Amino acid sequence: MTVLAVASGKGGTGKSCIASSLALAAGQVVAVDADVEEPNLGKLLGMAPKEIYSVSLPMPVFDEKLCKRCGLCAKECRFNALVQFGDLMPRLNEGLCHGCGVCSMVCPHGAITEGSHIIGKVSRDQAEELTFLEGRLDVGCPNPVPVIKSVIDTAKEEGDLIIVDSPPGTACSMVEATEQADYVLLVTEGTPFGMADLKLALEVVSDLRRPAGVVVNRSDLGGSDPEEICRRHDVPVLARIPFSRQVAQVYGLGESPYRGSSLWREQMDHLWDSVKKEARL
Ligand code: SF4
Ligand code: SF4
Repeated sequence: MTVLAVASGKGGTGKSCIASSLALAAGQVVAVDADVEEPNLGKLLGMAPKEIYSVSLPMPVFDEKLCKRCGLCAKECRFNALVQFGDLMPRLNEGLCHGCGVCSMVCPHGAITEGSHIIGKVSRDQAEELTFLEGRLDVGCPNPVPVIKSVIDTAKEEGDLIIVDSPPGTACSMVEATEQADYVLLVTEGTPFGMADLKLALEVVSDLRRPAGVVVNRSDLGGSDPEEICRRHDVPVLARIPFSRQVAQVYGLGESPYRGSSLWREQMDHLWDSVKKEARL
């Protein structure tokens, strides 16, 4: 089984467009939308996923009769999800709780049991050889990592080749998606901002010791090229894709340009060949 993560140091680089195109170029594949705060891969693939399960976190439930109001649980919660004052029961801020279970472990009076709080869902669709899984974080939930982990774990049970559309940026969501990957394709654009964010993304990938390649989307806009940064990290630039008005128009309609532009399809088939060679697929 091989997991390929398509990631970018920032949003707006065309990451999902490239992830969807590679999924269509690959044939038999499990495509995963792990950009759980703003999933749009399903739309680009023309899929309509149905929920298969919800993702929940264990959260503390307090027994008023057993609780002695000692405040130890609040003191030990490193996420500041609990407060306890005077004779009042501990109060939980669900948005800050990471479900780590420390509070129930430290309570000396057995006053805390574990309840469950739904934070998102995983949905699925299938079309011929293409299996699609989407993770979606519930609005207002601040912790996307368990949903990302859950959707990728499920994908690993579905097929041998998995293409993950990772969350953008270099925060813990992106780290969660890329650290499960055997190969990381970083998408950037040819602008100074693109280069700055690519540099951060390359540092993450290098810290995680993941093999990687770079694709420069809209390479002729912005006047910057990542060749030198990539050389420093010993990461190849696999493709430079110039801006195309036709591709932008197809994408603007919410469709994958892989289906709507023969030029783009040719470029993506070529990129997929390079990725397969680099990732030894
Ligand atoms: S540690 Fe237990 S007894 Fe102390 S305040 Fe928290 S729930 Fe109550
Ligand atoms: S489960 Fe962890 S994060 Fe949540 S309230 Fe308890 S100690 Fe804090």
